[in-house]
Amino acid sequence: MAALKDGSSGGDPAIPKEKDRRTVFVETWGCQMNELDSRRFVGLMAREGYLEALAPDDADLVLLNTCSVRDRAEQKVYDYLGRIAARKRLRPGLLVGVCGCVAQQEGEEILRRSPAVDFVLGTGRIELLPSIVQRVVTEGDRPIEVGFDMDEVAYTPGAVARTVAHRASITIVEGCNKNCTFCVVPTTRGRERNRRLAGIVDECRRLADEGVVEIELLGQTVNAYTDPATGEGLPALLRAISAIGGLRRLRFVTSHPKNFDDDLIAAMAESEVVCPALHLPFQSGSDRILGRMKRQYTRAEYLDLVGRLRVAIPGITLSTDIIVGFPGETEEDFSATVSMLDEARFSSIFCFTYSPRPRTAAARWEQDVPVRVAQQRLARLDDHQQELQLRMNESLVGEVLEVLVEGSDKTGQRVSGRSRFNQLVHVDGIPGTPPGTFVMAVVEKGLANSVLARPLRVGHPAEPGGPDVAS
Ligand code: SF4
Repeated sequence: MAALKDGSSGGDPAIPKEKDRRTVFVETWGCQMNELDSRRFVGLMAREGYLEALAPDDADLVLLNTCSVRDRAEQKVYDYLGRIAARKRLRPGLLVGVCGCVAQQEGEEILRRSPAVDFVLGTGRIELLPSIVQRVVTEGDRPIEVGFDMDEVAYTPGAVARTVAHRASITIVEGCNKNCTFCVVPTTRGRERNRRLAGIVDECRRLADEGVVEIELLGQTVNAYTDPATGEGLPALLRAISAIGGLRRLRFVTSHPKNFDDDLIAAMAESEVVCPALHLPFQSGSDRILGRMKRQYTRAEYLDLVGRLRVAIPGITLSTDIIVGFPGETEEDFSATVSMLDEARFSSIFCFTYSPRPRTAAARWEQDVPVRVAQQRLARLDDHQQELQLRMNESLVGEVLEVLVEGSDKTGQRVSGRSRFNQLVHVDGIPGTPPGTFVMAVVEKGLANSVLARPLRVGHPAEPGGPDVAS
């Protein structure tokens, strides 16, 4: 059997020998939360003795972890299922589960349209995966589990099969209580459900003890986080995690501007662990379009928040999400979006043309921006941002950045990683430096999407206070 990874702790006498162990493969579409959910699937099945297969052909259980945020998502899933059905005819014992947002949204329709599917598991039912698989095997059922438990996130600490040793993501809040008119997340992920602060801090402490130096806290509206027992919010959580020894970097994503208050800014500013980089979607620079999107803030309020962040956290970098071609968007509205780039000075943007999603308010409106116009606007926006980014990155020449190495290029000569400000930094001259190493590097050249740098010092990831080995 080719291409397997051991996702379990190993050595357990109750777990059969490798050749006898069943295998799971997860195909993932979508956002970071889906990526993390996929690692939870692998981790949960590892506890049942499963190994991770790196290709569907090697798997006894194939999970499709789906996303419905972008257009044609459902179609991609059904196309994939067509290919899996052919494989299943050759391998009758193969189990297939559809999970994630499309599962949540389509439910029974998936079982009806695709006989190859053995079960459907929604985003609020991840922890049920082992028992669902058991049910399919022993009872021959085709179960559908798509409900939400309303109070807290059901979460087994430690049951996440991590792919790198030095970095980890943790879900702290799932779902969203906003109702942006373009967004399918409240339907597919349900209303907000939070984890307890103490449990999150314990998990972070355990990860730091295992050598993790960077943690990212995840939630659709991560800064709406509220401990269900004590009412404490994200500022308290950031302060508690910042006190954990050994942890060097803490990030959180995705923030909603409406939930960003001065205490959260203060918690970021006073911590040496919280990174000075923030993803803060603004979606449109036009108040008229923001109103139609039901984003709950104005352009002026967003820019005021940016100003307060820049005063409190010198050098903070901002990234954002933007939708162009939203129903009703005029050339004037679009110009307001372009001018936001100049005013807010984002280090990177994620921009998309609007596509209507099922069961959202905006999908019922007249789609009055032609696709060609939306695509032209997207290209104009992107061109403008690329120019701004190039200038911003060129202005970094001569600055010293702390880089956490993530990998090497094909030649192994150039290593790449992220600065605390989340800039992508390529460093020459230290071939073979392993992922998880901290490097102090001086920027020599700015490019549109990254900077090139020369190493000053290289250090071990677990060293407190930073790299200290001269190279
Ligand atoms: S805040 Fe984000 S996740 Fe929530 S509805 Fe709006 S776009 Fe969707």
